[in-house]
Amino acid sequence: MIKSFQPPQRVLMGPGPSDVSPRVLEAMSRPTIGHLDPEFIRMMDELKALLKQTFLTENELTMPVSAPGSAGMEACFVNLVEPGDKVIVCQNGVFGGRMKENVERFGGEVVLVSDEWGTPVSVDKVKAAFETHPDTKILAFVHAETSTGVRSDAKSLCAIAKEYDALTIVDAVTSLGGSELRMDEWGIDAIYSGSQKCLSCPPGISPVSFSEKAVEKVQSRESRTPSWFLDKKLVMGYWGGDGKRAYHHTAPVNSLYALHESLVILQEEGLENSWARHAKHHEALKAGLEAMGISFLVEEAYRLPQLNSVMIPEGVDDAAVRSALLSNFGLEIGAGLGALAGKVWRIGLMGAACNRRNVTLCLSALESTLA
Ligand code: PLP
Repeated sequence: MIKSFQPPQRVLMGPGPSDVSPRVLEAMSRPTIGHLDPEFIRMMDELKALLKQTFLTENELTMPVSAPGSAGMEACFVNLVEPGDKVIVCQNGVFGGRMKENVERFGGEVVLVSDEWGTPVSVDKVKAAFETHPDTKILAFVHAETSTGVRSDAKSLCAIAKEYDALTIVDAVTSLGGSELRMDEWGIDAIYSGSQKCLSCPPGISPVSFSEKAVEKVQSRESRTPSWFLDKKLVMGYWGGDGKRAYHHTAPVNSLYALHESLVILQEEGLENSWARHAKHHEALKAGLEAMGISFLVEEAYRLPQLNSVMIPEGVDDAAVRSALLSNFGLEIGAGLGALAGKVWRIGLMGAACNRRNVTLCLSALESTLA
C-alpha cells in the first residue's frame, strides 16, 4: 500500500517556490465550489481588482492564467507575435533565452540583444537595436532575472520602445510584489508573473495583464492564435469585462482562493511596504554574508533584494553544502542555473520567506556548514 504523502517541513530560500503562509494554505483548503458559482464569480472579480492593484495597472485584461509562469510567458508571446513580426529580445540569463525561443516558435524574427550574465540589459544596446531595426513590433525583456539576481531598468527600456511605437512584453515572475514595478506608469503592454515567488502562493498560477494597445493587437491579428488554451480572445469570455463568464476551462478553484488570500495579505501590508521589507532583509543578509567573506555576483546597483546570487567560495563543494543545509537545517537554497551552475548559490528572500528569522537561520546555518 502506498501511504499519503507527508512533505517535510522546509524553509524555502531558493529561487522559488518560496514559503507559503499558513493563511494561504488554509484558504486553499476551503470547500471547492463550482467555477461558475455566483460566489466564485464574485471572488474572481475581487481577484482581478487585487491583481490590478499589484501590477499598478488599470488594464481590464488582467487575470490569472491557470498554469505556471511559463504559461504566462507563452500567453504573451503566442497572442502578440505574428509570423514575420520583428521582436527585439534581450537576453542576460536563462529566461531571456526562453523568450527568444517563444518568438521563434511563433514565427517571429528575433533581433537578439545579449548581455553578460550577471549584468542588466543594456539600455544603449536596445537603443542601437531600434535604430537599426525601426520596424520592430515588440521589445521583450526580463525585469528580474532569477538565474542571476539582476534587475533591469524596465522604465527606460519601455520608454525606448514607445519612441518606436513598439509593444513591450515584460517578465515579472520574480519582481511582482518584491521590488518596484509600475505597469501603467512605465508603459508596459504585456506582463506575466508567477504565484510562487514574492506572492508566496503555491506554484501553478500565472497572473498576466495586457494594455489596451496589446488587446488591440490581439483583436486585429491576421493569423489565428496558434494555441487554443492560451488564446486571449477565447479566455476573455470567462475572465473578460462583460461579466458573462462563459465556460472556457475548469478554473483551478482552490489555487485561485490561495492567490486571492495572498493578494489580500499583500494589500494589508501595502505594496510599497512589501518592496521596503524585501530591501531591508536583503541588506541584513548582505551584511552577514559579506562578514563571512562571501561576495555577490551582481553589482550593488542592479541587485534584486529577493534573489541573491553569491559566489561559492573557492574549494567549497556546492552540492555537499546545499545538501547539508537541507538535511541539517531544513533549509533550501538554490544552485546556479545554466552558465552559473557550480559557480553561485541563489539565496531567495521572497514574500513570506523574506523575514528576519530566515535571514538569521540562513547566516548561522551557512556559517556552521562552511566551518
Ligand atoms: N521567468 C522567470 C524570470 C522565472 O524565474 C521563472 C521561474 O523560475 C519563469 C519565468 C517560469 O515560471 P514557472 O517555473 O512558474 O513556469
